[in-house]
Amino acid sequence: MPELPEVEVVKKSLDKKIKKLVINDVIVLNKKLRYKIETKKFLKLKKTKIISIKRRSKYLLINLNNKLTILVHLGMTGKFFIIDQNKKNTKQVFIILWVKMMTAWPSRFTFYKHIKLIYNDVRKFGFIKLLNSKELLNSSHLKYLGPEPLSNNFNLIYFINYVKKLKTSIKDLLMNQKFVSGLGNIYCNEILFKSKIDPRKTVNKLKRLDLINLIKNTKIILKNSISLGGSSIKDFSNADGRNGNFQQKFNVYGRENNNCLTKGCSGLIKKIYVSNRSTFFCSYCQK
Ligand SMILES: [Zn+2]
Repeated sequence: MPELPEVEVVKKSLDKKIKKLVINDVIVLNKKLRYKIETKKFLKLKKTKIISIKRRSKYLLINLNNKLTILVHLGMTGKFFIIDQNKKNTKQVFIILWVKMMTAWPSRFTFYKHIKLIYNDVRKFGFIKLLNSKELLNSSHLKYLGPEPLSNNFNLIYFINYVKKLKTSIKDLLMNQKFVSGLGNIYCNEILFKSKIDPRKTVNKLKRLDLINLIKNTKIILKNSISLGGSSIKDFSNADGRNGNFQQKFNVYGRENNNCLTKGCSGLIKKIYVSNRSTFFCSYCQK
């Protein structure tokens, strides 16, 4: 499942390609995503301009000049493709939602000389909603999210106040979107390894220095992954079709029974389950 870095990478590639373009047409070929696509609403997008593309947690927000926002969650396998056959500067984008992977392009689309933006989702866990500003403000997807981990709001004072009296495990806390938004299983495993903290440790037993390290390493790991184009597992790629490379930097995720990569450590990476999620760690390095 794409986590914050992967969604940020998609956001950047969309920002580069479709910002300031006017939507020429929308075709919904298949409504069946996690929530049924409201086709009629989307057809009203003709001639609206894309003014910005933002990310909040693992959500993409495509803001339009008529105060509507296309809210996108990529689910497990959601992908945007951009097909740009027109090498001249084009001012229009032609949006097609949820197409099945096609080997040949249907002939009825080929006369369009616009950039085509295509959303495809093999497993259909993603969703695309069209919301007005009030609906966006009240959206249950966004309303309860904790601070962005790369923002200054995710800081030591916030962390100390949040964990007071809390008896949950640190892994569960990092996965909790109300505490901090955008982290998923991969990055939580990596952050805990880098911070030398046992994923099962209860948060009220963490020392001040642990919290400092967790915040610092969260930011380092996310930034590093974004700069490498995210992690390409389960076939992730950005809207230009490029894969990320951060999966080559994993220290623990998916490495069970392999040697710990800490210099001088003779431990093997273990795989356990914390709240039913696969959890990878070194019991020598992480206390
Ligand atoms: Zn180790």
